[in-house]
Amino acid sequence: MAGTHKADVIVVGAGISGLCAATWLAQHDVDVLVLEARDRVGGRTWSQPLGDDVVDLGGTWVGPTQSHIHRVLRDLDLHTTPQPLDRKRLLQIRGDLSRYDGTIPSIPLLGLLQIETATRLLESRGKRVSIDEPWTAKRAAEWDAMSMEGWKQRHIHTAKARGLIDIAVRSILSCEPSEVSLLYFMWYLRSGGGLNTVAEVKGGFQQDRILGGAQSISKRLAEALGDRVLLNSPVRRISQDEAGIDVELDAGRMRAARCIVALPPHMAARMHYAPQLPMRRDQLMQRMPMGSSIKTLLQYERPFWRDNGLCGEFLSDNGPVHLCFDVTNPGGPPTLMAFTNGQLGRTHSEMPRQERIARVEKHLHEVFGPGAPKPSAVLEKDWNVDPWTHGCPVGMMPTGTMSTVGSALRTPFGRLHWAGTETAKVSVGFMDGAVEAGERAANEVFDRL
Ligand SMILES: Cc1cc2nc3c(=O)[nH]c(=O)nc-3n(C[C@H](O)[C@H](O)[C@H](O)COP(=O)(O)OP(=O)(O)OC[C@H]3O[C@@H](n4cnc5c(N)ncnc54)[C@H](O)[C@@H]3O)c2cc1C
Repeated sequence: MAGTHKADVIVVGAGISGLCAATWLAQHDVDVLVLEARDRVGGRTWSQPLGDDVVDLGGTWVGPTQSHIHRVLRDLDLHTTPQPLDRKRLLQIRGDLSRYDGTIPSIPLLGLLQIETATRLLESRGKRVSIDEPWTAKRAAEWDAMSMEGWKQRHIHTAKARGLIDIAVRSILSCEPSEVSLLYFMWYLRSGGGLNTVAEVKGGFQQDRILGGAQSISKRLAEALGDRVLLNSPVRRISQDEAGIDVELDAGRMRAARCIVALPPHMAARMHYAPQLPMRRDQLMQRMPMGSSIKTLLQYERPFWRDNGLCGEFLSDNGPVHLCFDVTNPGGPPTLMAFTNGQLGRTHSEMPRQERIARVEKHLHEVFGPGAPKPSAVLEKDWNVDPWTHGCPVGMMPTGTMSTVGSALRTPFGRLHWAGTETAKVSVGFMDGAVEAGERAANEVFDRL
């Protein structure tokens, strides 16, 4: 039985990727409909009030090299504010706490040299990995058989330098080095322009924050699309025949000529498909888990860390806070953003909320003190238990995935096309990648309509 509501194209998911796909199609006079499971748009971006301010519980920063998201920000008349880096940073590694300036962390020289040599090797090998088709690299199978933990054990020999690699992987993918493939990690960094660009503040992907919050992007895109965006509409099943495609909701079906699925692959795997998806695509979706992360936002009466000559940025290989930034908005109350990622993100998730927050506060006060006051307001988001994301920030690939089934990442199946930041060719995993992937899928569909 064919669905009743008709559109040229149905987009599943009103995150940045789905909304950019729909906007591109609407601008090219295509009749498009977006179906979103939640009661809001924005997916992995979610800006919420905290006190009198607005804070980002999901995606936050953009970098100067991310041209796709910057174009969208300009089109939507959204502006950014720089991430402050005017005081010292903190590093806690193997139990030692130290301050540093610039980008060179304070660990012994031997460890720094090892990190430098090993990351150069990572990047020069990465250049042999095609961004479009990383699975075709000559040594794809060999690199895909090794995890980042294996690579670390082979190339880095001092405890502190190993701690820095743990921090880098946990910060970038919110998973443990043992969980991610070397081939995938090289590709991920390459798509962003290298480790420094992906991980750094100045000139990197953490350089600027979006005023009003990152969810403003999706809110404004959805506003322009108007009643072409339907909220509270989880898609359960997608079936296609020679004449069209049916998208099944809890109540009713919609029919279209083509459909773009703009979800992370593990969420796309939770829908049913008829006919069944090609084997490789199905296996890929079974093998792209999300990382694990909890974000805690703490607002204070006074920026006590600045009194101590600190910029609020703090990295730790110990936790419960792995990564922390000062995310105070211009004229807003002093605010810190703390991340608990990877395995600790999972154990933290199982603790009562009050206990989690108390542990985060204690850790921050230990490192930023003395004289740290109690926060005046706290907000927390555990992405691990979010029913429409189930983890964060990105669906990544463990060993043995990219070289075996990775080729199915963007390949359309009949009338079905794939978007979402995971399928991007630039800034994979970031908002910039979500834009590029959405517009690429829209182009693909447009050519076939
Ligand atoms: C804590 C955190 C921090 C991050 N930090 C940054 C950062 O600083 N900078 C950056 O650039 N990126 C960051 N990211 C990543 C960034 O948020 C994502 O890359 C981007 O938002 C992904 O957009 P998307 O449209 O591809 O996917 P999503 O935003 O996940 O959109 C998918 C949409 O599909 C919906 N959906 C799921 N299943 C169904 C279904 N069956 N039917 C209908 N709808 C469905 C979901 O509700 C969601 O709205 C972060 C992410 C998180 C979670």
